[in-house]
Amino acid sequence: MAREELLAGLAEIAGAENVCTNEQMSRHTTFRIGGAADYFVAPASAEELQGVVRFLNKRDVPFYVIGNGSNLLVSDRGIRGAVVQLYGRFSRIEVLHADSGCGSAVDKAGRVYLLAQAGASLAAVGSYAAELSLEGFEFASGIPGTVGGAVVMNAGAYGREIKDVLVRATVMEKATGNVLEVDAEDMDFDYRTSSVEGNGWIVLDAVIALKPGNRRQIQEYMAQLAESRRQKQPLNYPSAGSTFKRPEGHFAGKLIEDAGFKGFSAGGAQISEKHAGFVINTGNASAKDVIELTDRVAAGVFERYGVKLELEIRLLGF
Ligand SMILES: Cc1cc2nc3c(=O)[nH]c(=O)nc-3n(C[C@H](O)[C@H](O)[C@H](O)COP(=O)(O)OP(=O)(O)OC[C@H]3O[C@@H](n4cnc5c(N)ncnc54)[C@H](O)[C@@H]3O)c2cc1C
Repeated sequence: MAREELLAGLAEIAGAENVCTNEQMSRHTTFRIGGAADYFVAPASAEELQGVVRFLNKRDVPFYVIGNGSNLLVSDRGIRGAVVQLYGRFSRIEVLHADSGCGSAVDKAGRVYLLAQAGASLAAVGSYAAELSLEGFEFASGIPGTVGGAVVMNAGAYGREIKDVLVRATVMEKATGNVLEVDAEDMDFDYRTSSVEGNGWIVLDAVIALKPGNRRQIQEYMAQLAESRRQKQPLNYPSAGSTFKRPEGHFAGKLIEDAGFKGFSAGGAQISEKHAGFVINTGNASAKDVIELTDRVAAGVFERYGVKLELEIRLLGF
């Protein structure tokens, strides 16, 4: 199918201003790395997304769903096919009604349920919850991803993970565009993983259970966690967060530091001086630089300590 025809079809579904070709993925990843995607589309609703999914499937165009690109390393060659971004335009957050009586949002177990669309940022959900004096989401409010990305990754911090607050999610099958509801207990959550990818699902929205609390305390706790991130993480450089998963019984950053790799670099990619668990882009890093660096660091750590470091960041287009 001709490129123009494909563009026109996608534009009809999602609006011409939300569809482009040859879109540099460095604009859509927090690493600020990545070549061009053939097609890029940002649908605003489940209906538009379903239209896009069915349209692309029918024409055998491979596609990849992303949120805020905060856990991604996209290849320098870019992505053959389409990138479907669920961020910004797909981000409603609302309180669900409870079963405890007319007008009440608190259920019999004392919980309040928020429904957040996949493209809502975790920061926005955190602020929304805090405004309503709801506690339980503070841990996630400083993670720079979306609700969808957080469910896929079972994102976590400060001893809590998305699985601790998730009740259920609405997902769409990539292969068919069909929509289904899945209970959290059926999503096989584990450390930085879930069954979403394996099942070929796209997360549409998530229902999160929180508890009424004290607004000032919630906001203070969030501010304290944000300050802790600023102190410990190299937030003034582009990165994709922790590069490697935490190996059992160890901390990746400590192993990397102890093996002498702090500040070590390959091209524009560097092991952060501030936090050795982060690879940072010092300005003009390529994906190739990041791979070269992570390969060398992982080999060095294995040689020294016999511990295998596994990437936490997801590779796209390799
Ligand atoms: C400075 C910094 C700090 C970070 N701190 C933390 C932390 O404390 N804890 C933590 O867990 N992570 C952390 N991260 C990593 C990252 O923010 C999380 O993994 C986050 O959950 C990713 O969300 P995202 O929307 O950016 O997903 P993306 O990076 O866009 O995508 C991640 C994966 O999810 C898939 N995906 C995204 N959205 C959907 C969807 N709706 N449906 C189906 N698949 C989807 C993508 O295909 C990809 O495989 C940090 C990153 C940075 C840059």
